Amino acid sequence: MPDRIFLSSPHMSDEGYEREYVKEAFDTNWIAPLGENVNQFEKELAAKVGSKAAAALSSGTAAIHLALKAAGVGEGDIVFCPTLTFAATANPIIYQNAIPVFIDSDYKTWNMCPDALEEAFEKYPNVKAVIVVHLYGLSADLDRIVEICKRHNVALIEDAAESLGTYYKGKHTGTFGEYGIFSFNGNKIITTSGGGMLVSDNEEKVAKVRFWATQSRDQARHYQHSELGFNYRMSNVVAGIGRGQLKVLDQRVEKKKYIFNFYKKELGSLEGIEFMPVNEWDKPNFWLSCITLNGQVRPIDVIEALERENIESRPIWKPMHMQPFFKKHDFVGTNVSEKLFENGVCLPSDTKMADSDLERVVETIKGLWLK
Ligand SMILES: *Cc1c(COP(=O)(O)O)cnc(C)c1O
Repeated sequence: MPDRIFLSSPHMSDEGYEREYVKEAFDTNWIAPLGENVNQFEKELAAKVGSKAAAALSSGTAAIHLALKAAGVGEGDIVFCPTLTFAATANPIIYQNAIPVFIDSDYKTWNMCPDALEEAFEKYPNVKAVIVVHLYGLSADLDRIVEICKRHNVALIEDAAESLGTYYKGKHTGTFGEYGIFSFNGNKIITTSGGGMLVSDNEEKVAKVRFWATQSRDQARHYQHSELGFNYRMSNVVAGIGRGQLKVLDQRVEKKKYIFNFYKKELGSLEGIEFMPVNEWDKPNFWLSCITLNGQVRPIDVIEALERENIESRPIWKPMHMQPFFKKHDFVGTNVSEKLFENGVCLPSDTKMADSDLERVVETIKGLWLK
């Protein structure tokens, strides 16, 4: 068997930046709690994306949870959420005992459809927050979505877990709403093995998020708590990996873009293939290169043919309103996300791939058109 090609797996810097920061933490015995790497990682990430403040947390999911809490979402509140996403976007709505209403995608962005969002506001005028996702590193139609949320005076939370390094009209995704979140899970464009970040221009709220994330310990010598707390902070070792990875983020985006263009050039003319949409406003990070198949060759054919060659690929996310756990909740839209799920494939987008690996993927896929 040839070596396995992954969808997207951890890729530490050639320079060994991560190891240096982690070594510092070890040498000073400051592996926890918190510490210099955590403080610096927050500052460096906030500077990179152009946000006033950031809180380093144990996961992207934890960041979404505390963003919802910061936005005042509580029991019985309605939250609009894209249906086409990973379950981690929607789960924290349930943690807060709130109620998700799922919104369809549009073909122009694959992300939250602004028209469906308008329709949802007509149906549910009392909404506490809107979560928008930038799927696969493609930015949503932010001008329209921000305008709609402002007009209804509702907080916007950006789940930018997949879009670190993506710019919408020159401004970094995750900085358009009241709160933005990032993930450093193992499959993301940069990783700390696991972790997340909440960003906001509201420094007071970010301080509050740090407080909640450290068990809501009041300023007192004895242990005193006047609010519910969580154990959601990032460790100083993990933050060291993040600082090193952040230095190679631009390099990773370049490689991801190269991979996308390679596939597009080699596969773009095959009948029935369409590549994910890159809009004129968008400078994506190309986290995953995705296609839809509308002809004879079906996604399962591609996925199985690649698997036979020891190459990993995946379908597009299965919409939340089709999930057994979430299907009792309302959905606003038509069948766009269902069609994307039915026809979509995520191609291997691992930044460690050499051209020979990309050739292997491309040749395997082309083979299906020769039959
Ligand atoms: C990865 C991901 C998350 C969750 O991040 P974790 O760090 O794994 O908790 C949330 N939303 C989306 C869209 C993701 O892809």
